[in-house]
Amino acid sequence: MDYFNYKKGKLFAESVDVETIAAEVGTPVYIYSKATFAEHLQKIKEAYRELETTICYSVKACGNINILKFMAEAGSGFDIVSGGELYRVLQAGGEPSKTVYAGVGKTDTEIIEALNAGIGYFNIESEAELQNLILLATKENKQPKAALRINPDVDPKTHTYTTTGKKETKFGVDIERGRKVFANYGKNETVKLCAIHIHLGSAGRTVEPYVEAIEKILVLIDQVRSDGFTIEAVNIGGGYGADYITSAAPVAADYAAAIVPLLKDKNLKVILEPGASIAANAAILVTQVLYLKTSGEKKFAIVDAGMNDLIRPPLYDAFHFIWPVKVKKEFVPDRRDKDLQMRGGEVVDVVGPICESSDFFGKDRFLPPLKRRDLLSIFTAGAYGFSMSSNYNARVRSAEVLVDGENFQVIRKRENYEDLVALER
Ligand SMILES: *Cc1c(COP(=O)(O)O)cnc(C)c1O
Repeated sequence: MDYFNYKKGKLFAESVDVETIAAEVGTPVYIYSKATFAEHLQKIKEAYRELETTICYSVKACGNINILKFMAEAGSGFDIVSGGELYRVLQAGGEPSKTVYAGVGKTDTEIIEALNAGIGYFNIESEAELQNLILLATKENKQPKAALRINPDVDPKTHTYTTTGKKETKFGVDIERGRKVFANYGKNETVKLCAIHIHLGSAGRTVEPYVEAIEKILVLIDQVRSDGFTIEAVNIGGGYGADYITSAAPVAADYAAAIVPLLKDKNLKVILEPGASIAANAAILVTQVLYLKTSGEKKFAIVDAGMNDLIRPPLYDAFHFIWPVKVKKEFVPDRRDKDLQMRGGEVVDVVGPICESSDFFGKDRFLPPLKRRDLLSIFTAGAYGFSMSSNYNARVRSAEVLVDGENFQVIRKRENYEDLVALER
């Protein structure tokens, strides 16, 4: 599932000793494994090989242009949600025609940029947006393709903040209105409305919501086709589970086993938008223990990474397995799990230096005994890790390193103090 493994008590990223990277680049540092990205992409391709599939990796999960570049070379398209992400894709040499653009609030500028780039599909989130796209495309003399994002009213049973396919969320058009929208715009000559898009939300841990949603949109597709309109593609979004806990989420093959039979022989191209399931366990965030302290009954390990570097624990109550980069033999973990316990360890809260009680990575975590300056690895940090980082507390953003076999390379320099104020001068 990934290429971060202990060898003789030392954590390796592929064939590179993590301690070596930390010594050279400093901490906190995001360390990515190229092989992990490639393997996840390959597994998804294989799982859906019976369908005519385009995989559009979701840039917002982890969008460093060096990562997008090798994803593009490996055949991936891209799912974007802003003009900035389109810029990243183009800078990385991504294929515009394999790029799909979602988002409830696309600005005119962003739409024009995407029209001129020649993206594959605009994923339309409202009739007002579709009207605006028709207007702008007419002005720019372009004939883009569009997919109507349908809100299938399905609960992926994940965190409320990452749920996007329920009626009360702001995303897409009600399924009941879908047929009407095609009746109004399905023959428009400027914007070719010819696909359906859904995205249920992130980090779902079951296959059923996808089955339920796809069954619903297949009914709609039948109706729309029988009304005389063309539907050439269906985009089933992202949100597939990633292994934050060892083997806790379905893998690509599990999703495909349920999804492929539904979409086979339907004369539909299929688009997928995986983000976390590709990127999540393709990175670790390595941080150093600054201080240890005890407060009442509680023990704290204060580390040099903060919630500005990785906000998922406070934002989504997300679990990230945390373990020292170097351990004695008896402390080599055999899985990544909340309940992992071994004799001789202790229970600590792993917290950052920021002035907020929400600045934590893990609470009541069992860990081997720690001392000052120990390095800790926060696992499964690749998705919505660096991409959600900020400069809060005037902290410089951490460096990003890409490991490829025996080699590693800094793919984003650590920011410096001048970077913090440069745009204010
Ligand atoms: C965020 C997003 C994705 C990716 O979600 P993951 O949970 O990272 O797989 C896919 N499609 C759309 C429209 C998104 O907004």
